[in-house]
Amino acid sequence: MTQPILSLSATELEQWLADHDAPAYRRRQIWGWLGRGATTFDAMRELPKSLRVALDADFRATSLRSIAVSEADGGRTTKTLFELDGGHSVEAVVMRYADRSTLCISSQAGCPIGCPFCATGKFPFGRNLKAHEIVEQAVDAERVLAAEGRRLSHIVFMGMGEPMANYRAVIDSVRMLADPEMLGISPRRIVVSTSGLIPRITQLGDEKLPVTLAISLHAARDELRDVLVPINRKYPVNDLVEAAQAYGARTGRRVSYEWVMLAGVNDTERDARELGGLLKRKLAHVNLIPFNPVEDTPYHAPDRKAIRAFKEMVEAQGLNVTVRDTRGREADAACGQLHERVMKNKLAVS
Ligand code: SAH
Ligand code: SF4
Repeated sequence: MTQPILSLSATELEQWLADHDAPAYRRRQIWGWLGRGATTFDAMRELPKSLRVALDADFRATSLRSIAVSEADGGRTTKTLFELDGGHSVEAVVMRYADRSTLCISSQAGCPIGCPFCATGKFPFGRNLKAHEIVEQAVDAERVLAAEGRRLSHIVFMGMGEPMANYRAVIDSVRMLADPEMLGISPRRIVVSTSGLIPRITQLGDEKLPVTLAISLHAARDELRDVLVPINRKYPVNDLVEAAQAYGARTGRRVSYEWVMLAGVNDTERDARELGGLLKRKLAHVNLIPFNPVEDTPYHAPDRKAIRAFKEMVEAQGLNVTVRDTRGREADAACGQLHERVMKNKLAVS
């Protein structure tokens, strides 16, 4: 199998071009075509035919193979399951809004953290994605959106995997996604969501890459967070908030705190008080996510009334709170679920 072209750095591709008697600026043209979603080298019309043929002999435009697509919200949400080289699979979800198009991207096949409410965390960890495999998900989304007269405008690392546990590849991919010669998506429009690997959060602050940081909080006391987000046993919640706020102060970006709402588990008055206490007077934003049901878990989503009541209790303590809309629920478009279904089918066959 030939090499995926995005696995080459700019310098490496320019070297390849030099070896084929082509000028360095062709690299920018190739990236430009890929950024606009070209799936073959032959479609890159500015390039001489001989160069297109040479590229095709040595490279693939993408390493991802789309193996299933599902749709929700009357087509406004689409989710693609991609097979990676070597057989693992990951998903990516495109959400279309009036003023933006957002891609939810995966950084790992599976996830080593193992949160008990998450479909991804229930399967054995597969492997880290390479930077080009992350970028290729965005290139594919751009292709799909371009055909609809849309542009990809926002990216959230909220698909499968823990981005901070695949740090190098995630940072490299963010730089490529932000590169004006590739997709040109401003880091400010890229959200990296993490369960809370403190050393990596601190390192992220040194990158001069002002991505928006989202912390998957889900509980404000260690005793409960140790269960819901097991990495908390290593990196306790107070230290985590301190590291996240330091990131916010360094980058001037407001930090988002995610709170998946689990009925009777973390939606009580006590939880609202603890959350308020933890984030009081901090430049922070709380995002409540109604639980998206996952089979074989003991959890349930609270009803709308309970969600509203929780929101009001947290707001009453001076915090900025929104409730995330549950895009794509009807097509299993939340974290990990399409993967789960395919895995089950595979298991049933074997
Ligand atoms: N591993 C990273 C990013 C991927 S998960 C993290 O945990 O932050 C993205 C978000 O979806 C996280 O906030 C996660 O807690 C949430 N999530 C996972 N499973 C969910 C479910 N079944 N319903 C609602 N949100 C869920
Ligand atoms: Fe991993 Fe995030 Fe799922 Fe937890 S919520 S298992 S960290 S993907």
